[in-house]
Amino acid sequence: MSKKLFTPGPANVPEIVRIQLSKDIIHHRMIDFHHILDKVNIKLKQVFKTNNDIIILTSSGTGAMESSIVNLFSTGDEVLIINIGFFGERFIELCNVFNLKVHHLDYEWGKSFNLDDVKSIFERNSKIKGVFVTHHETSTGVLNSLKELGEFINTTNALLIVDSISGLVIHDFKFDDWHIDCALASSQKGFLMPPGLAFVALSEKAKSMMKSSNLPKYYWDYKKYIDYLAKGQNPFTPAISLVLALDFALDLVLEKGIDEIAKGKLELRKYLEAKIQQLGFKLFITDEQIKGNALVPVLSPNNEDLNELVNYLDSRHNLSVSLGQGKYHNTMLRIGIISDFNKDDIDDLINKIKEYLDMNKK
Ligand SMILES: *Cc1c(COP(=O)(O)O)cnc(C)c1O
Repeated sequence: MSKKLFTPGPANVPEIVRIQLSKDIIHHRMIDFHHILDKVNIKLKQVFKTNNDIIILTSSGTGAMESSIVNLFSTGDEVLIINIGFFGERFIELCNVFNLKVHHLDYEWGKSFNLDDVKSIFERNSKIKGVFVTHHETSTGVLNSLKELGEFINTTNALLIVDSISGLVIHDFKFDDWHIDCALASSQKGFLMPPGLAFVALSEKAKSMMKSSNLPKYYWDYKKYIDYLAKGQNPFTPAISLVLALDFALDLVLEKGIDEIAKGKLELRKYLEAKIQQLGFKLFITDEQIKGNALVPVLSPNNEDLNELVNYLDSRHNLSVSLGQGKYHNTMLRIGIISDFNKDDIDDLINKIKEYLDMNKK
């Protein structure tokens, strides 16, 4: 039984990638693996738009988030977290666990951040060593714009760390041009892979901050990954099957082209928005300027609990749709369009939602 994943990650895995996953593995200390890691690295650089090497971790996205903290900072370091939702809050929790001195700018869910607020924090605190920001906030569907933020942070001594876990591939992203110092991604979002791999890009500025970091680390230690990458290896046994499949998943992304993918998602997002509103659902974000294209968040027509609808779609029709997070847990649908869907898939989902609504009217 296969399910259509209208969830903002994981997404459905294309057949060509699934075929790779069923093959026997090769050994990660042999030359074949070395060649594949080299190839994958070249392709990842094209996706991140960077000349820097990219580290591959065996982990979900949150592991990459934790790794950025333990590698770049020291106990008591002052950091700023730009928090616009559930995943911004995760950075706050993580930085607190490692006893950093956390400043945070909190915005109402559904809003983007304001660069002037960031600048005024820097005017008052000269000691801030890092700024954490979520590129696309998966709990609200808001896309933060990073270019001006990167240009500003580049004039300071601080690092800019970007969680682009649900941003990358689906939206424009330029690691080098935007002066990002550390960018995090994971396999189960725009890459259309199963979960299990995380990717970390690092600038020279980040690599030099790494040297003075005193937080405890062993498995996450970037230095080990960088040293081994030069030999075409991982320091530890990687998820070999996933790396082999990644080679193919990256070909799919690069053959289609990130600009094309982003354009297609934008079109699909608008199509879905129009259709779901016809059923009485209300768009959570109305400002077109801050909308991402990984999902459409909508509120139930009359504040109804949506758990039963979600269960109905999943168990009766094999259509998996996410509920909201935080206080929107019961009243928001987050309809993901990360999977390679077309308008017919959207029509199918809309018809099944309509069927449920009609059934419950009687
Ligand atoms: C999915 C996601 C994560 C990571 O979640 P994992 O379950 O650990 O992979 C982090 N940040 C954002 C914005 C995400 O969408």
